[in-house]
Amino acid sequence: MLQSKLFPKTKREAPKEAESINHKLLVRGGFIDQLMAGSWTLLPLGWRVVQKINQIIREEMDAIGGQEMLMPLLHPRSIWGETGRWGSAKDNPLGAQEVMYQFKDIRGKEYALSFTHEEIVMDLLRKNIKSYQDLPVYVYHFSTKFRNEPRARSGVLRGREFMMKDLYSAHVSEKDMMEYYEKVKVAYAKIFKRLGFNFRITEASGGVFTTNRTHEFQVLCDTGEDTIFYCDKCDWGENKEIFQGKEKGVCPKCKKGKIVKAKSIEVGNIFPLGTWYAERMRVYYADKNGMKKPVWFGSYGIGPTRVLGTLVEVSHDEKGIIWFPQVAPFAVHLIELPGAKNAKSVYDILKGEGIDVLWDDREVGAGEKFADADLIGIPVRLVVSRETGDKVEWKNRTSGKPELISLEDSINKLS
Ligand SMILES: [Zn+2]
Repeated sequence: MLQSKLFPKTKREAPKEAESINHKLLVRGGFIDQLMAGSWTLLPLGWRVVQKINQIIREEMDAIGGQEMLMPLLHPRSIWGETGRWGSAKDNPLGAQEVMYQFKDIRGKEYALSFTHEEIVMDLLRKNIKSYQDLPVYVYHFSTKFRNEPRARSGVLRGREFMMKDLYSAHVSEKDMMEYYEKVKVAYAKIFKRLGFNFRITEASGGVFTTNRTHEFQVLCDTGEDTIFYCDKCDWGENKEIFQGKEKGVCPKCKKGKIVKAKSIEVGNIFPLGTWYAERMRVYYADKNGMKKPVWFGSYGIGPTRVLGTLVEVSHDEKGIIWFPQVAPFAVHLIELPGAKNAKSVYDILKGEGIDVLWDDREVGAGEKFADADLIGIPVRLVVSRETGDKVEWKNRTSGKPELISLEDSINKLS
């Protein structure tokens, strides 16, 4: 990709209203653009990062049998009426009116914009599941979610419209559901490890999804809005809403570790929903004896756009973003300075090797090019200039020391 053609250009100043680091740096770097509070365009650079995040998630979902599909975002009122979630939380603990966008069209028909898809998957299951032989089912999709968020701020961490990967599983028994729940927990841990996060798994309440205990995946981050408590020796952890122990107290699980309090950002959650949805929406299967039984059900979410914001919150410096290689928009930033003879050939050779490269071919000063490279945050910078001759100057985004090496060596280091 030629930087002279990249839309849009970087910005010197962050927007006045921006408070959070991800908001400031992602807007300045040209990754995202705000339409209104909580509503964002993922610009070409931002979309490249989100696609890399999504691919890591997709690989781990497929590895535990997930089948990808795509469900609609416009839902009729009737389907939300079946579980009572159309109504208010004042009348029903799972009432979701407060977080849903509900509206009438010009003929008076009522709809909601999707804030989740449990009811939609239940409808699919009752049309397609007859016997125990049709179970289990594991389906997932990546799509937009709408939530009427009263405090839409913190950049892409808290949006009214955002991207979500949601996986749903349906089972013949609680045992089968819980076995798969544990598998998803392991898959999620793999995903967040691959993304480069330092995270903890905490027990939490289920909000408008379930009255069962659930699990959250929390990235440790000083600028996070959540507070969690975890053991410094074992995997025990709880979020603030259900924690009843004492900070620095003894871990209730291993009885050895100390309880640590930390700020965090929630990037994923998993819910063992049980038969609550199947009973309300009449989703039954016939067991081996022909007896009708309700389907056991779980749902599992990760917010890729929230992951995008979290990556910036945990990995940046005063100059800009520092992308981990596995999610960087490009693998290499090629900086062409005046007098360079080999920029075009270096670019073509890198591309020929299948390496994603952003070539700064603009006619601007070296200072501006380096400042933009630090802001955009691609992990490896290669400079070609009059002085580098037929070699390239390699510099990591995080280390100050450049080294002059051959193009062949830099290709070996990249692959
Ligand atoms: Zn412990």
